[in-house]
Amino acid sequence: MTVRMISYKQLGLANTRDMYKKALKGGYAIPGYNFNNMEQLQAIIRACAETESPVVLQLSKGAREYANQTMLRHMAEGAVGYAKELGKEIPICLHLDHGNSLEFAKSCIDTGFSSVMFDGSALPYEENIAISRKVIEYAHDRDVTVECELGILAGIEESVLADKSTYTNPEEAADFSTRTGCDSLAISIGTSHGANKFKPEQCTRTETGILIPPPLRFDILEMVQELLPEMPIVLHGASSVIPEYVRMINENGGNLEDAIGIPEDQLRKAARMNVCKINIDSDGRLAMTAIIRRTLAEKPSIFDPRQYLGQARDELARMYARKNREVLGSAGHAFD
Ligand SMILES: [Zn+2]
Repeated sequence: MTVRMISYKQLGLANTRDMYKKALKGGYAIPGYNFNNMEQLQAIIRACAETESPVVLQLSKGAREYANQTMLRHMAEGAVGYAKELGKEIPICLHLDHGNSLEFAKSCIDTGFSSVMFDGSALPYEENIAISRKVIEYAHDRDVTVECELGILAGIEESVLADKSTYTNPEEAADFSTRTGCDSLAISIGTSHGANKFKPEQCTRTETGILIPPPLRFDILEMVQELLPEMPIVLHGASSVIPEYVRMINENGGNLEDAIGIPEDQLRKAARMNVCKINIDSDGRLAMTAIIRRTLAEKPSIFDPRQYLGQARDELARMYARKNREVLGSAGHAFD
């Protein structure tokens, strides 16, 4: 099997350096939206072009296996062309989400990624530093940016399951950043992967019975900001698990129990601080599934995938545009 080597610059993509610098100064966060198929990618590009937002397109290892690396490279190039066709040449980054080895990071860099994450958060501290440095050296030689992670998030990310989270230690974050030279740092302040971010017993209930999760640890974020004022911070597991979609799924044959996410006002606050990218994956999955379930339930005779995927795509685009405007604050910043 031969895979053609290509630089992201030939695909018209951008790394994260400029994006994050502007986001840090401007008090907003860039969306980190994951995709696995054409409809999700179309929705992301349409929403970000419409709202004039820069965007980080994220692919996990699982997505790369699902969609095929050659297909994905052409899809990323297609995304750049699509934005151009819409009349908005927004900055687009292609980012590896949760890379777990030097070899995998290299293979992504060699096939058109403009940014990679090396997630060594589960490794012993010194080992995380050692491998992060190797990834960064290889990436920086090719003008690719690198996100690292410190502190463990609870929840499920692909096959990685962490039972409980460990908050990031701000002093360790400062030491880690200095020693590795990473371009951005994912930290753990109480976000969590998946659609069941918290157990009901960890939450409080409002008078109307809505579960409110424990607040994010803004004190940790502030300490990190003091020690590392120039470092772009990334929040993973930051979907809000929008109740409307959960309800729609459950009303149409689904069974999602106790789905709880991060309230959007807390994400808005983090975006105004030193958080430069907020990763949103579960909300996209929920929106798509909700619309597909509802459409198929309401119209049992349809069998053309365009009919339910098209509706799901439209809803996704609306949701992403709203996130850019109301949660991340990235709308209108593509041409800063
Ligand atoms: Zn993540």
